[in-house]
Amino acid sequence: MTTRLPLVYHDCYSFPFPDNHRFPMAKFRLLHDLLRAEGLLGDDNLHRPDACPGEVLALTHCPDYLQRFVTGTLTFQEGRRLGLPWSPALVTRTLHEVGGTLLTARLALRHGLACHLAGGTHHAHRDAGSGFCALNDLAVTARALLASGEARRILIVDCDVHQGDGTARLLAGNPGVFTLSLHCEKNFPARKAVSSRDVGLPNGLDDDGYLAVLAVELDEALKRFHPELVLLDAGVDVHADDGLGYLMLSDAGLAARDHLVLSRCLQDGIPVAGVLGGGYDRDPAKVAHRHAFLHRAASALWPRYGRP
Ligand SMILES: [Zn+2]
Repeated sequence: MTTRLPLVYHDCYSFPFPDNHRFPMAKFRLLHDLLRAEGLLGDDNLHRPDACPGEVLALTHCPDYLQRFVTGTLTFQEGRRLGLPWSPALVTRTLHEVGGTLLTARLALRHGLACHLAGGTHHAHRDAGSGFCALNDLAVTARALLASGEARRILIVDCDVHQGDGTARLLAGNPGVFTLSLHCEKNFPARKAVSSRDVGLPNGLDDDGYLAVLAVELDEALKRFHPELVLLDAGVDVHADDGLGYLMLSDAGLAARDHLVLSRCLQDGIPVAGVLGGGYDRDPAKVAHRHAFLHRAASALWPRYGRP
């Protein structure tokens, strides 16, 4: 029995990390604190994930790569491509984060709606980390649920400003998954993968332009695929003030985007699991504030669509 929106978080997500690093590692804790202060998160609706088991990770990732990531024996080039300094704490947080997205998806299947306070590591490949993503929580979750029969058709809606290239490659040709990626064409990665549906957006696109495209593409994907579960990567690097993204969404645009995806799926009776995705600013508190639009939108929809 859960009377409020299930939220998934672990204290290990943010750990001591170089302040001058581009990746805002503090944002997970700041988001947790913000949602607690707003009264959206309490001990009654907080779910703590376990580390994702190795046999579940092995459905998606190469065992040799997994072993080298966990033991800190990646090559210099591999570490540079990942873009995060290796430490035991990085491994711990990464394994729990993947476990957290899987738990969020399971809570969504059970209760109709659930959100993670992390996740969306969509650049990780089968045998390599990339772009601050060591392991691909979206692909691991999709494969785990398909393998166990918990879901048969999963739609991944990737609204991060960067293309979900790792997810697209890891799940290519899998009839149980449809990958929809809305991204800025000029943002990383330079060499794009092929998702089930890719929508490369022009630099500078604003709220109205973005929301119009998203509404059409989401509708089309739902009609074509009839998913039993939607995984939403609600990256906030589409924001105008983001340090990396080239799109121009406002705070109101972020809120409208998250409400649009959640409400459209929920109206069709499709459970949704929301994860953070990217967001970049010298001040991690600003990033946490942008991410909170997802949890606010989901909390507002919970009384109508959530299943206690
Ligand atoms: Zn991103």
